[in-house]
Amino acid sequence: MERKREPYPVSTLCELKDNIDTNPDYQRPAVWKTSNKQLLIDTILRGLDVPKFYWKQIDEDHFEVIDGQQRIRTIWEFHDNKFKLAKDADPIDGEDIKDKLYKDLSIKMKKKFTMYLIDVVIVYNTKDDEEIREMFLRLQNGITLKSQEKRNAMVSNMRDFVINCSKHQFFSEKVGFKDLRFAHQLVAAQMILLELNNGPNDIRNSNLNNMYKDHKEFNENSSEAKKVLKTLDYLNKVFSENTPELKPYYALSFYLLISKLLDKYVITNMEDKIFNFFLDFENYRQNEKKNPDEKDPEIMEFEDKVSHSSDSKSSLEWRLDFFMTRFGIKFPEVTLKDENRNFSYEQRRAIWRRDKTCQIKIKCDGKKLQFSDMDADHIIPHSKGGKTIVSNGRASCPECNRSRGAG
Ligand SMILES: [Zn+2]
Repeated sequence: MERKREPYPVSTLCELKDNIDTNPDYQRPAVWKTSNKQLLIDTILRGLDVPKFYWKQIDEDHFEVIDGQQRIRTIWEFHDNKFKLAKDADPIDGEDIKDKLYKDLSIKMKKKFTMYLIDVVIVYNTKDDEEIREMFLRLQNGITLKSQEKRNAMVSNMRDFVINCSKHQFFSEKVGFKDLRFAHQLVAAQMILLELNNGPNDIRNSNLNNMYKDHKEFNENSSEAKKVLKTLDYLNKVFSENTPELKPYYALSFYLLISKLLDKYVITNMEDKIFNFFLDFENYRQNEKKNPDEKDPEIMEFEDKVSHSSDSKSSLEWRLDFFMTRFGIKFPEVTLKDENRNFSYEQRRAIWRRDKTCQIKIKCDGKKLQFSDMDADHIIPHSKGGKTIVSNGRASCPECNRSRGAG
């Protein structure tokens, strides 16, 4: 890997828009609030220092951004009159710049902007992308991933379960982020912690460390473990092929959504519909982000929630509520499961009096049942919305009921 450092005037950066890829796969989503953008331009107009940009040379005329993605996009946007300077900006050299677009600035001020020199470090002759990723992580302080490396070295049943989950097909084939520095393990661990907490919670490094310590004896056959795998199986069907848009913040939001839906609603055979629900939302969101006019405030809030403290309880709660509400509007016909999963004593008596013999007849040929030996089985399974009512119940011998699977 070799490096060279070159000063680029902002005017040249603006001409290179089509030559620079700002979204290589190790990048984070590009989200800056308007106030961040205003601050950067204000800094440039005042001739103050801006951190270096890092690019990877692809060929003679093309580059990938390693670091400085938000900054370069902000420069392009300002140059294209996409946002105004702050309403409370102080004058520069006596010139009032408050609430102004690029095109409203004086010639003198425009020159200050376009002639400003940005230091660009260009990396070339790289052997493989790992070097670049390493560099990117160092520049971004890859603290989170480093912690996951440490957790990976802990001896704990929880560690083993996290590793198993991170090898699930959902991670290996479907998600839109690479398993770089245990990134899949990190997200799998966060999902497990959400499941253990039965919903949104802080899923920061300290919380994950505690989970590994507190669940050293974690049982891979526990109901929580089964629920995690069941939710991953469902997600794996929703995303039937690799989905580049499926970044960690989406994987976690949709984990929460599917986990909750599986608990409370009948979502059998809805995988394709839920995928379209995801894609429609993502397309709408991308269009809103490009929209030069008034943007949908809900989308702007979503951007904020996934770009700041996205591992906090409040952000995860907000996102779950956001998607649950949208889901409810999009699929008004989806029904709640019967809250009572088990037949009561009285219902079992009624079913037994009516049926007397095993009605399933897989393992037996309809044997006579004592009340104490009878299982009450849901005809339409509970998971498919079958009600816990006598007319949806039937007598079964334990062997037949088991071989039919949990209903
Ligand atoms: Zn039977």
